[in-house]
Amino acid sequence: MRNPCLRICKRVLFVPIIAAALFASLAYSLAAPPSQPVRPRLAVLVVFDQMRADYLSRWQSLFGDGGIRRLQTEGAWFQNCNYPYAYTVTAPGHASILTGCSPDRHGIIDNDWYEREAGTQVSCVASERYQRVPPAGSNATGRRSAQEGASPERLMAPTIGDVLKETTGGRARVVSLSFKDRSAVLPAGQHPDACYWFSGRGAEAITSTYCRDHVHPWVADFNQAHQADQWFRKEWTRLRPDLDYARYSGPDDVAGEGNGSGQGRVFPHPFGTADTSKPSSSYYGALYNSPFGNEVLLNLVERAIDGEHLGAQDTPDLLCVSFSSNDAIGHCYGPDSQEVLDVTLRSDLIVRDLLNYLDTKVGKGRYVLALTADHGVCPLPEVARAQGKDAGRILPSTWPKQADSFLKETFARKEDKSKWIEAFSPPWIYLNKPALRQQGLKEEEVEKALAGWLVKQPGMQSAYTRTQLQGELPKDDSVGRAVQRSFYPARSGEVAGVMKPYFFLWGTMTGTTHGSPHPYDTHVPLLVYGPGISGGARDEAVTPQAIAAIFADSLGIPKPAKAEAPLPATLQTAH
Ligand SMILES: [Zn+2]
Repeated sequence: MRNPCLRICKRVLFVPIIAAALFASLAYSLAAPPSQPVRPRLAVLVVFDQMRADYLSRWQSLFGDGGIRRLQTEGAWFQNCNYPYAYTVTAPGHASILTGCSPDRHGIIDNDWYEREAGTQVSCVASERYQRVPPAGSNATGRRSAQEGASPERLMAPTIGDVLKETTGGRARVVSLSFKDRSAVLPAGQHPDACYWFSGRGAEAITSTYCRDHVHPWVADFNQAHQADQWFRKEWTRLRPDLDYARYSGPDDVAGEGNGSGQGRVFPHPFGTADTSKPSSSYYGALYNSPFGNEVLLNLVERAIDGEHLGAQDTPDLLCVSFSSNDAIGHCYGPDSQEVLDVTLRSDLIVRDLLNYLDTKVGKGRYVLALTADHGVCPLPEVARAQGKDAGRILPSTWPKQADSFLKETFARKEDKSKWIEAFSPPWIYLNKPALRQQGLKEEEVEKALAGWLVKQPGMQSAYTRTQLQGELPKDDSVGRAVQRSFYPARSGEVAGVMKPYFFLWGTMTGTTHGSPHPYDTHVPLLVYGPGISGGARDEAVTPQAIAAIFADSLGIPKPAKAEAPLPATLQTAH
């Protein structure tokens, strides 16, 4: 039997409770400063491999409302964000962002470098101690090291992920995903829960025994679904056939553009040769060199958010995503190409879809997201020359021999048969120190002579010696100081060169690259979106390494131990 009194009592009690709550909130809003934003439950790093800052303004009118433009207006848009070090390539970029420092501190000076003790070239994340997971199939050919794993052991600085793990007693989840191994391994740090990249052939998501012995169920499902095969026998056409691409970028067919993986210089770009019955390595090469490589990764990212329940705990999690196809396309067709315009427009859709997914799964206002790039890119020399600039590709294959002869002549040791140039891993030249000692020569003098020779080579602007880099450089030598931030004594050589703007070392007659201290390589996007961050453009000079401080501030954790980039002054959160 229902009790009428209880109903009445409820009503009677309910009214004062509402009144008290209203009064309390009114009193709070009158007396207290604006409420503190809720701490995010998830920090998301989005890297587009090779994206220049000028793309965001040049093509802003072409973006939709829900993607990059949402970050430009609702988030902080830093328009003056530059890498502070000289050699702007993928691994140093990915190592810098979440350690908050430069190669002089974290030690990742390049994608690979010469390791003096081993007497060989090493790749930044390659590790013979670990194997790839799952193992390459028995028909795996190609690299001898097809089964080799990857690890962050050469990264000499902790990341935000490492700090998060430490401060939460390991409860925070750290997930990092990319097409490239180095771009997944380096942002994550030493303790990822899930770290995946794609095998060269087959576009299968793989990890390393450094992380775990078998893939997560959501990765097994992803590989089983053959996500990467859906474009077989299709073509890459323009996203916006209604748009005059030539007006926003340049002509489609330009001298100096590459051919990709048999894709040709003009739209539409086919995927692989038509005569194969199933996707071949040529197909996967073409997929990587198209915007759809990013779509494959986005699918894996969504599975990771679900599978790892990212942003669902009380402790915050970290998700790092690096989209690699922009880099392949930019190298092949150059920054002024219709292909780069197209992949940038499609990247806008990737950002939109990722934001929508995070809104749904984690909740609006419950995540902080930073978008940046690991480097920019130089125009094709043919395009730069058409604009009246001095530009060119320089093939340095004969340099070590020439340098060796020059030094022996200079020091009157022509009869010495030993090689004085031990290795050339651009931009670094490594001297054979025992050979010089045997000749009774001072390293410093040989370095100086070598730098004098190097700076006279085609396309060179300047050269620095180890002795110079270990000392004080003039305050106004901004390039030299940038080289110092790329210099890690145990891994760098004795002399490093800097090319003139619009020149680069390159082995083929087509395509372009990055890796210089010039603005087209250092100037990258930085967009930061999350609770407590007010929207709009900023002209404050910052570096991408500021993301480490931004995430630390937002999550309420200490900055990584070697971080040096401060929290941007225009980004004061209310924690
Ligand atoms: Zn890169």
